[in-house]
Amino acid sequence: MTAASETFEFRTEAKQVLDLMIHSVYSNKDIFLRELISNSSDALDKRRFEAVKNPDLASAAPPEIWIAVDKEKSALSVADNGIGMSRDEVKEFIGTIAKSGAQEFLKLLRAQKGQTDIPELIGQFGVGFYSTFMVADRVELVTRRAGEATATRWESAGDGQYTISDAERDEAGTTVTLHLKSPDEEDGLKDYTQEYEIRAIVKRYSDFVAYPIRMNVERTEIDRDEEGKPLPDAQERKVVKAEQLNSMKALWLRDKEEVSEEEYNEFYKHISHDWNNPLLRIQAKMEGTLEYRLLLYIPEKAPFDMMMPQDMRKHGLHLYIKRVFIMDDCTELLPDYLRFVRGVVDSEDLPLNISREMLQENRQVQRMSKGLVGKILAALKEMSEKEPEKYKTFWQEFGRTLKEGVFQDPENKDAILELMRVNTTTSGDDAVSLAAYVERMPAGQDAIYYITGESQARLLASPHLEAFRDRGYEVLLLSDPVDEVWTQYVSEYKEKPLKAIGKGEVDLGASSETEKEQAEKERAEQSKEYAALLDAFKSALDEYVKEVRLSGRLTESPACLVLDEHDVSPQLEKMLRMMGQDVPTTKRILELNPKHPLIEKLKTLHEKDSAADMLKPYAELLYGQALLAEGGQTPDPAALSKHLAGVMLKALENG
Ligand code: ADP
Repeated sequence: MTAASETFEFRTEAKQVLDLMIHSVYSNKDIFLRELISNSSDALDKRRFEAVKNPDLASAAPPEIWIAVDKEKSALSVADNGIGMSRDEVKEFIGTIAKSGAQEFLKLLRAQKGQTDIPELIGQFGVGFYSTFMVADRVELVTRRAGEATATRWESAGDGQYTISDAERDEAGTTVTLHLKSPDEEDGLKDYTQEYEIRAIVKRYSDFVAYPIRMNVERTEIDRDEEGKPLPDAQERKVVKAEQLNSMKALWLRDKEEVSEEEYNEFYKHISHDWNNPLLRIQAKMEGTLEYRLLLYIPEKAPFDMMMPQDMRKHGLHLYIKRVFIMDDCTELLPDYLRFVRGVVDSEDLPLNISREMLQENRQVQRMSKGLVGKILAALKEMSEKEPEKYKTFWQEFGRTLKEGVFQDPENKDAILELMRVNTTTSGDDAVSLAAYVERMPAGQDAIYYITGESQARLLASPHLEAFRDRGYEVLLLSDPVDEVWTQYVSEYKEKPLKAIGKGEVDLGASSETEKEQAEKERAEQSKEYAALLDAFKSALDEYVKEVRLSGRLTESPACLVLDEHDVSPQLEKMLRMMGQDVPTTKRILELNPKHPLIEKLKTLHEKDSAADMLKPYAELLYGQALLAEGGQTPDPAALSKHLAGVMLKALENG
């Protein structure tokens, strides 16, 4: 049979990463071995997991990672008898970069230009395999998927192309062979064919890996007498022996005092495929009705796949039962809003033969999950109090994810609200807690006010804020899409109602009853005065708005658009549509500012000439302008600009 060999171009983004690797100034080149070992360890995990359902996939030989060197050829290989890859999988996993992460990846690359922070990029996009090109000028991978008969060879010199061809491999698994670059101490390139270098790297980065990492080592032996002295005519012999390089000790079972910070960090990198140290470590031994240990981490940077659907995310929580590895992403143990947490949970109570389906219904799993959530939220609270700077980093990366907890986890809603940080009209970039906001509410303010929208800058420019600014009331500026959702689930905080300033009528807590009555009377009188104008506006804009009324929230702008208390906001509407839901368009209410000279003038004009087509261009202009002011789009830009030109011309002719 002739091997079908095909040559492919790396996808653009993959090429860029390779370039980065090859020309990188990243000095810690040793970690290529850690990456290969982690991949092998994952592949062994996967095979074990798949073999539970399909015993045909199990390996006859015990799971193992094997390192071999060929000094003459200057080659190093890492092999495993794990799950392996099919030809299509090789193309998908090795030739491209994590699919939908790619776009963002490119953006990051461009933004960072010269000073690219390799660990950060790699950690976020999971392209550890490419790190081999830091130390090798040619990389070869031969792999055979468990359950398949044929093997595949992948080969590349990192020059923009790779070839794939048929190959042979006796057993399922993967072998990666590196044709090493010449050692160059200055460049951090060691002689990776040396036993002591390999030993040191494995010890440092992969000691805890749960499968034996073995290598043939050469020793000289000599026959000795009973006292251990070499026999008089004995000859030295070279013998080759397989030796295990890692201790395989599970970190979460060892005493804290016995494990160094570096070991904990390396373990994190191993399970998460991140290249950065974690932001936070959470460790506990839970005892009582259920007994389990946990060693959890929160990354420093949000992984690229955080916002992807669940089945596309790569690394999660590892579940062990009585020290036996069960699965590498136990989503049943953590609610979705804590999906950024990495680590290990080792249970003493669950049955070893537990399946995914059983996990979902298991009450012990549900109780463990509660325990984990409690620990994580408590650890976050502690960080927010003791290490506010660090907490800021956390919030920037994961705040929007954590906010989902408000509606996913009603039981912990209050705890999550405590952890929330929000930008406000006066906070600048320093987001504040809700508690701090309430604390500094001025006398007379009796609600927590917020506005939702697409960006901080747009919100800050919104006309809805005017009366609040005037009063010295701070308003929360909520610009994450998830803000549209969680705010629907929170009616109050610390006994203060939460109110959207773009919804309902605004009655900014008049300080006394008489003041309130006074204001109401004034508004009623004004409404009577303006009734004809409001009616005319309503008929002109019937297509777009459900009501036209006078505003209590504007001081400078002539008009703005608002919603009724329980209406769906335009942003939420957009989100729901994007999610494929069929939502009707909600018409909003146009509010006019009677204190604005333009509105007064329009009233006078309308009193003199009440023909419907006289008012229409003004009504449409005001409506369009209200939309633009909040950063929206007008339904008919062409008509709007025509009106605008007409009105300008009239103004110039009159002037
Ligand atoms: P990451 O491991 O962070 O996902 P890599 O670039 O190191 O990124 O690997 C990409 C993918 O290639 C892995 O997710 C895995 O699916 C596959 N892969 C890599 N090495 C192996 C291996 N030894 N056995 C099986 N699959 C592998």
